[in-house]
Amino acid sequence: MSAYLDNCATTPPYPAVIETMRSVMEKNYANASAMHRFGFESEMIVRQAREVIADSLNVTPEEIIFTSGATESNNMALFGAAKVRRRHGRHIISTNVEHPSVRKVLDHLADDYGFELTLLRVDENGQIDLAELTAALKESTVLVSMMAVNNEIGAILPVNEAAAVVKAYNKNILFHVDAVQGYLKYALDMKNIDLMSVSAHKFHGPKGVGFLYKGADIHLAPMILGGSQQRFMRAGTLNTEGIAGMAKAVELYRANEAERDVRLRELKRYFLDRLADIPNIRINGDPLRMAPHVLSVSFSGVRSEVLLHALEEKGVYVSAGSACAAHSKNVSSVLVNIGLTKEEAESTLRFSFSEMNTKSDVDVAMTALQEVIPMLRKFVRR
Ligand code: PMP
Repeated sequence: MSAYLDNCATTPPYPAVIETMRSVMEKNYANASAMHRFGFESEMIVRQAREVIADSLNVTPEEIIFTSGATESNNMALFGAAKVRRRHGRHIISTNVEHPSVRKVLDHLADDYGFELTLLRVDENGQIDLAELTAALKESTVLVSMMAVNNEIGAILPVNEAAAVVKAYNKNILFHVDAVQGYLKYALDMKNIDLMSVSAHKFHGPKGVGFLYKGADIHLAPMILGGSQQRFMRAGTLNTEGIAGMAKAVELYRANEAERDVRLRELKRYFLDRLADIPNIRINGDPLRMAPHVLSVSFSGVRSEVLLHALEEKGVYVSAGSACAAHSKNVSSVLVNIGLTKEEAESTLRFSFSEMNTKSDVDVAMTALQEVIPMLRKFVRR
């Protein structure tokens, strides 16, 4: 028996997504930019997908730019905005819990292009203080970037409120949201959001495809130059099957929104109840205030990679911190920034759920944890 509890890293695709992609690859392989009728059919698939995605956000299809995923969308949004806005000012505000695909771009803009960064701090629940955001805004601020839901601990950041604060101060400041863990899970107020990044594989779609929402009146410098696709904003042959698969996932994910939320909450509560049987653990952040699909737990006296591999032996798949930071030597800055010691951060696992998980997955994980933890703790040097 196995239990896949690593859905923040990626989710299993819906069978209908696989079928859609297979069918597009087989029957609609013409280039969506080709001039002939066969190409036009591919273009229609892309057009339809754009409509489905635009409808999910209540925006217009022209505002959706297809990309290879949120890493590209984040790069495109931040570099593109910095390039066109640098003459107006060089101050950017973000938070100290962003994903590396935001944080590293911002560091690069600071180190190589002279931008000044203000990174808002978070409390023990991974929450920013809107008063700190208000205080950070200044005349030279040109861009604010904030994630919707943190991928390591599940904190739900107040992006709608933050965007309103920013726009009330100066409507020309661009507001970007990394919505990878929040899209289709939380209502986003697109009226104040200028740019938003999404990856399809986080909601049972395919990997390597996503989009950037760019408000119709927002000017960005393109970063990927080449052909005239997507109105020159992102050159390159369109990934027709990926785009069709993503749109299929959007439709299916939207279809069972209320049910999924209830189910994930129940699953998390069940897991929390069962975790009470394990001594000396720390649940990171107030779990019921966090997104229901993420649970971060520190197991005192056990190194997370060792625990991760011991669980893997028993067919339980989880992450230590986040998958994107998995091969870096550094301890998770998100965990340190919510107040964990280095030791606690190094003994933390992230369990993340999808609508495809059941209580029996939690039972499998609990049985494994109960077997493995006492054994690993015996070997700890004191
Ligand atoms: N932002 C967040 C919050 C994420 O969780 C991830 C994926 N872990 C990304 C950006 C990057 O997405 P991708 O790897 O699909 O480009």
